[in-house]
Amino acid sequence: MPQDIAPFEWSDDALRLRQLVYEHWCEHGRGPNLRDVHEAIGLTRRQTVQAYRQLQLGICGCIDLFSQNASVYRFMPFASFPTQVKAYVDDTFHSFAGCAMETMPFSKMPPFADSTVTFESYCSCCLEPVRFTAKAGQFLSREPDGLLIHVSTSPWDWQLIDTMYQCDSMNFVIDADHAERYEREIGRRGVLFTLEQAMVFAGGSGDRRMWNFHAPPETSSPEKVINGARGLGVDVANWDA
Ligand SMILES: [Zn+2]
Repeated sequence: MPQDIAPFEWSDDALRLRQLVYEHWCEHGRGPNLRDVHEAIGLTRRQTVQAYRQLQLGICGCIDLFSQNASVYRFMPFASFPTQVKAYVDDTFHSFAGCAMETMPFSKMPPFADSTVTFESYCSCCLEPVRFTAKAGQFLSREPDGLLIHVSTSPWDWQLIDTMYQCDSMNFVIDADHAERYEREIGRRGVLFTLEQAMVFAGGSGDRRMWNFHAPPETSSPEKVINGARGLGVDVANWDA
């Protein structure tokens, strides 16, 4: 289980691939395919696949581990498929954000430094639209005012293989009543974050991505995550904590 794994060093290939994927996704709104990677940094298929596998272990992205073409589902903060959040850079559609939490670091990516990023999403219970705009991690506006993020998986179940299910479980809700309705819909309890709490909880990766070429692998550590959320004033009772 890839939780609390021992620290490891990225390979040179993984470091170069990570940087390229960030640059390519910021510029084009999608990830590079094997040929794009080969042209840009010279990696072979085997080298790219191996590097992506390492990047998944260090919680940088989610790939189909068995894919011959290194199918990348997520490369945080981005996703390759229609998620619950559309990201608009300076009012133009850019890409799908990985999830509600990944909107926090998104606007901190260096190429967006001078842009406003608007995230269009919906209340997960009733699909009514919600949105907020940020610039370099600072909130500029939000609608509705009481917008919350609902997390309906436990950190004890995060990153068992990858982050697919945890990202899917991080959704916007209009308020606590809508969160409760969503909980009944999916038969699960959850934990609520304000945008401000979420920015502290999840925004920190935005201070490293692309900014620090050598930023080390991340580790999924349930107890640290839960204690961190509790320290922000989040009610973590539904994480049995
Ligand atoms: Zn709702």
